[in-house]
Formats: sequence, structure tokens, C-alpha cells
Amino acid sequence: MNPKPVSPELIKATINFHGHSCPGLAIGIRASELAMDRFGRSLDEEIVAIVETDMCAVDAIQFLTGCTFGKGNLIHLDYGKSAFTFHSRLDGKSIRIVARPNAIADPDDDLIALRTKKLKKELSVSEQKRLKKATAERTKQIMEADIDKLFDIKPSQGPVPRKARVLESLICRECGEATMESRTRRLFGQTLCTSCFETLENRFKI
Ligand SMILES: [Zn+2]
Ligand SMILES: [Zn+2]
Repeated sequence: MNPKPVSPELIKATINFHGHSCPGLAIGIRASELAMDRFGRSLDEEIVAIVETDMCAVDAIQFLTGCTFGKGNLIHLDYGKSAFTFHSRLDGKSIRIVARPNAIADPDDDLIALRTKKLKKELSVSEQKRLKKATAERTKQIMEADIDKLFDIKPSQGPVPRKARVLESLICRECGEATMESRTRRLFGQTLCTSCFETLENRFKI
């Protein structure tokens, strides 16, 4: 059964937040639908999202589910997969929502050629229109598809992430900037921030 769809107003606000409408954002909106159906929206940090991509979809997830990078309840794993795990700290339940390989239909040769041209900034006006139309069509397909055609729901992998800790800051001996304790390094008995540590490390070829 399909979960309650995101309202047209919220979809519009999500597109505004992201900057454009695209198939990737549509995947994020539909995954958020599923997550919010199970867990609701994260008002504070009670829901944690673990995203395995850093592409467009994640903007929809942050905006709609309330799992955000800054709050510490959005964790990025650089696996390059359209897979999104949601974990509730309230009841300990988790789901991993994985986009099916054919959720975003494979681009045909024409679309691949158009995208390549776009990267090289060689698109003519009529080609630009064709690319825009094809992209809009794919976005619409995703927004209208049955949810179980788009995603597989799997058990979550790995341990549940800990709550974000607020740590003390230390002052870097080189630049004098306050740095979160867990991100500081020690060199010749001095406390350094990571960037100064790496600069000195390079200079002395340690
Ligand atoms: Zn996008
Ligand atoms: Zn420093």
C-alpha cells in the first residue's frame, strides 16, 4: 500500500530548497514518504537517517524528514548507493530503503548523448529543450509510481549510530582557532587543528 503522499505545497517547498526539480530529488521525496509513514518527522534527534549517497535525494530527505546534517541525525556513508536507512531512537526500529536498479529507468542513447553534450556545454537550444523534457518526464514517472516499484525495504545494516556529542574546543597552537577536541591532533607535544597538522606534516615530510 502506498504511504500518504507529500502535499503539493511541501513538494514545491522541497524543490525551492534544492533549487531545481530532478529525478534524484523525486527519489528523495518518495523515500521520505515511506520513512515518515513509519516514523513521522524528526522534530529533534529521535530519528536518524543514514544516507549512502550525497546526491540530490538527500536534500529532500533533510528538508522533509527533519534528519539534517547540522543536527547530527543525518549520517553520510560514501557508498554511492541510493539507499537510505532510518532508525528511531524511540522504539529502536530501523528500515533501509533501497531504490531498485530500475527505479530510475536507464537512460537511452539519446539521453546519454544529450547529457554528455551538456557537460561539454555544447547543447543547442532545441537539444536543451529535449533534455529538459526528458528529465521532467522521468521525474513525473518517479513521483507517480507505486512505492513498491521504486524501493525495496531491507533490514538495516551495522550498529545504530550514537547520539551526537557536544565536545569541548581546544585552541590550535598554530592558527589560534578553536577546534572541536575530537578533531585536534598532537605534534611535538603541541595541540593542533587538523589543517595546521596537515600543513606542518607536509612541510616536515613527517
Ligand atoms: Zn537535483
Ligand atoms: Zn590551526
